[in-house]
Amino acid sequence: MPSIFTRIINGEIPCHRVYEDEHVIAFLDIGPVSRGHVLVVPKEERVRLDQLSDASAAALGRALRIVAAAVVKATGCVDYNVLQNNGAAAHQAVMHVHFHIIPKYADGSGLGMKWNAGTAPADAAELAGAIAAGARQAL
Ligand code: AMP
Repeated sequence: MPSIFTRIINGEIPCHRVYEDEHVIAFLDIGPVSRGHVLVVPKEERVRLDQLSDASAAALGRALRIVAAAVVKATGCVDYNVLQNNGAAAHQAVMHVHFHIIPKYADGSGLGMKWNAGTAPADAAELAGAIAAGARQAL
C-alpha cells in the first residue's frame, strides 16, 4: 500500500510544493510546528533512513541544504531544526522517510525537545569499533 507521501509524489493528493528534483520532493507540513515547517521527502518509498539507496541519500543531502536556505530566506527565521524520525518508537507517524525543517523564532515557537544526555559509556571504544565496522561494511 503506497504511503501518503507516495500519493503526494504521484500527484494523487495535493500539497504546497516548495522543491522537486529527480529523487526528492519538499512541501509544507500540513500540521506545522512553526511557520515555514517543510518536509523533505525521497521519492524512493522506504520506511527508514538506513534503507535508502546511495542515490536517494545523496540527493537528500543536497536538497536539505537548498530547501533550508530557502526557508530561512522566505521566513526570516535565523535558526531551525532538522528532525528525522525512524520507527514508531521514535515518533515516526508516516512510514515513508522524511526530514522536517522546522524554523525557530524569537518568540520561542518551533521545535521543543527534551535532550536526555547521559555520560559516556564504559565500553565507548568497543561500541565505536562495532559501529565503525558496520559503516566500513556498507562502503
Ligand atoms: P513524523 O512524525 O516524523 O512521521 O511526521 C509526519 C508529518 O507528516 C507530520 O508533521 C504531519 O503533519 C505531516 N503530514 C501528514 N500528512 C501530510 C500531508 N498530507 N501533507 C503534508 N504533511 C503531512
